[in-house]
Amino acid sequence: MNASYLELQGIRKLFGDQPVLNDVDLTIREGELVTLLGPSGCGKSTLLRCIAGLTELDGGRIRLGQQDLSNLPPRNREVGMVFQSYALFPNLTVADNIEYGLKMRGVAKKERMLRCEELLALVDLEDKRGAYPQHLSGGQQQRVALARSLAVQPKLLLLDEPLSALDAKIRKNLRTEIRQIQKRLKMTTIFVTHDQEEALTLSDRICIMNHGRIVQDGSPESIYSAPRTEFVARFIGSYN
Ligand code: ADP
Ligand code: MG
Repeated sequence: MNASYLELQGIRKLFGDQPVLNDVDLTIREGELVTLLGPSGCGKSTLLRCIAGLTELDGGRIRLGQQDLSNLPPRNREVGMVFQSYALFPNLTVADNIEYGLKMRGVAKKERMLRCEELLALVDLEDKRGAYPQHLSGGQQQRVALARSLAVQPKLLLLDEPLSALDAKIRKNLRTEIRQIQKRLKMTTIFVTHDQEEALTLSDRICIMNHGRIVQDGSPESIYSAPRTEFVARFIGSYN
């Protein structure tokens, strides 16, 4: 097995003359869940968007498995993404939302339906296949978004604060569920949050970000017990 499955090397991004990502290096092993944790505006979403190909890089390289992603269009990157706000198609049913990516790829209806049923079971929404997004709770909508992103069997899953818009109780339940699904599928995942508790309970590894840099990268225990900078100590210390 490849020791580093995803490798980011020297990722740079400017908006105008503002550096937003400064030489970000990151390697992730297959099946690992790594959390990017940092304050609002530190560049977390921009980094995910660069990996997904939704934002162009100003420097650096991205490798996933054996493939150099740097110049591939988003649809060829085999990367799934779930956003903070519900980005479902409002005029499509749950099933059609989940099948959308497969349809775009020309997968036959029968196979799409089989795959959709598997995913509905995975996210526990079998009774909602015919419902429209507006009739679902926030948590249910995020489950559909997760199923939709998994439908095309991505090699990498990017979760951009998928729980932030939800109530505390639902957030906790869905957090546990996401982790169970991720482990069951052995899905290599980057989870973005600004919530320390979420990061500490969910992750194999945490990367603390500040001002477009990863300032510490380690196990939840090591980050919590041995913060390397004052910023990390303060940021983690505000948990409780
Ligand atoms: P985070 O997800 O950590 O909150 P972002 O990656 O969204 O941070 O943003 C990082 C910085 O880049 C912020 O200062 C933000 O204002 C800026 N930024 C993000 N997207 C754009 C854009 N499309 N144009 C200009 N500036 C942007
Ligand atoms: Mg963000």
